[in-house]
Amino acid sequence: MKEILVISGKGGTGKTTITAALASLYRDIVVADCDVDAPDLHILLKPEITERETFYGGKLAVIERDKCTKCGKCRELCQFDAVSGSYDIDAGSCEGCGVCGWNCPEKAIKMVQKKSGESYISGVRCGTMVHALLDPGEENSGKLVAEVKKKAKALAAGRSSAILLVDGPPGIGCPVIASLGGADTALIVTEPSKSGIHDMERVINVAEHFKVPVKVIINKFDINRVNTGEIEKYLEKRKIEVLGKIPFSEKFDSALKQAKTINEFDPGCAEAKMVEEIKIRMESGSQAR
Ligand code: SF4
Ligand code: SF4
Repeated sequence: MKEILVISGKGGTGKTTITAALASLYRDIVVADCDVDAPDLHILLKPEITERETFYGGKLAVIERDKCTKCGKCRELCQFDAVSGSYDIDAGSCEGCGVCGWNCPEKAIKMVQKKSGESYISGVRCGTMVHALLDPGEENSGKLVAEVKKKAKALAAGRSSAILLVDGPPGIGCPVIASLGGADTALIVTEPSKSGIHDMERVINVAEHFKVPVKVIINKFDINRVNTGEIEKYLEKRKIEVLGKIPFSEKFDSALKQAKTINEFDPGCAEAKMVEEIKIRMESGSQAR
């Protein structure tokens, strides 16, 4: 089984639209949505949740009322102003550092697991989707990404599909690094804008640093053919394959409005055929001409 991680280095390149379109070409694939801060693959794949699990991303201090003498030590030491005047801990502010507990003279503070989000296994039209949602204001999305990937890999191991498709998080930070772990290919979706090129270069460097082979899809390639030429030259120099070039098309928006992928919306159209060709190249590793 090959794990293909679709990333972009930034939002708005059409990464999720393309991931969903590729997924919709399978009958029994496992798709993982690793954008746990702002997931949107569900808009197109409409998952029906079958299993949900609470995600504990860190620790939270809790004061045991019967032991507390209200001496004020914890309030004085907390750098995050998480202890109120009435000695309640604000779960949203507590960073779980444990300083209050170590210094409480009455040993009245215990550290408990803090709920930071949920992960889900769902049925989708093309198979199974593993996804998650971090609670508002919570951090540790890298840990939740790792959890989503672990579940997806376990599920994919028993499937007929030779591909595990992962919609990666945006940017180049901790969640992307977590999503690169174990990936066989980083499939980067870029667009021919100056910022798109810059973000593509940065995410290529991150993927190559972690020794994950890179391939590229140039989306909306015809909105700036000069920049597309620059991207192609750059990729040629770095010996990176272009798996496909997709033109700008209002059909993608029309499909989205009906919560369909382009291949479901109009399977015979040129854009859908291009996605099919990318799928074939993605599986075989051959380059677009
Ligand atoms: S340090 Fe311990 S005893 Fe003092 S106010 Fe905080 S919880 Fe209560
Ligand atoms: S664990 Fe750290 S952040 Fe949380 S209340 Fe105690 S000192 Fe403050």
